[in-house]
Amino acid sequence: MVEADIALKWLIEGNNDYIDAEKNHHGDISLEKRIHTHRHGQNPFAVIITCSDSRVIPESIFMKGIGDLFVIRLAGNVIGDYGLGSVEYAIEHLGCKLVMVMGHSGCGAVAAALDKDHSGYIVEITKEIKKAIGNEMSPIIATKLNIKNTINKIKQSEIVKHEIMNGVKVVGSIYHTHSGHVEILKKL
Ligand SMILES: [Zn+2]
Repeated sequence: MVEADIALKWLIEGNNDYIDAEKNHHGDISLEKRIHTHRHGQNPFAVIITCSDSRVIPESIFMKGIGDLFVIRLAGNVIGDYGLGSVEYAIEHLGCKLVMVMGHSGCGAVAAALDKDHSGYIVEITKEIKKAIGNEMSPIIATKLNIKNTINKIKQSEIVKHEIMNGVKVVGSIYHTHSGHVEILKKL
């Protein structure tokens, strides 16, 4: 089991490596790691809730490989019952101590929520983001409010509340798609 502060340190270090990477390289996706995790199960050290955006790749951004991160991705990093159940599973059964909600710059889902009305199931996502951002028109502030909304929802889970007393931390961050930097949000 990895304590939340250590998990956060690993993510920040991995992100620094990613920013400095001169060519493609990655976390451990070796045959050995694959076989090991197949035999002994997964032991991820962090849960990452982020956007489906193809530019936002948690394993690459943090330079992590097989068995390291438990990732939940939906457009706009919104969270519903299935996502909350996944978070609960990761912290209660897999021992994750760190839960990170990572929004990103230039999020299309946030932009869509700031924009005109949409159709189809996309409305389900924009409706959720609109609830979080109210009348806010600044994309960056809206992104932060949307992250905060997802964090608040996670913290309403009884299992999460209980596990917070056992050292679980829920943090927010923004991935900057131009620089590759993950900014940890101190105040939300
Ligand atoms: Zn996005």
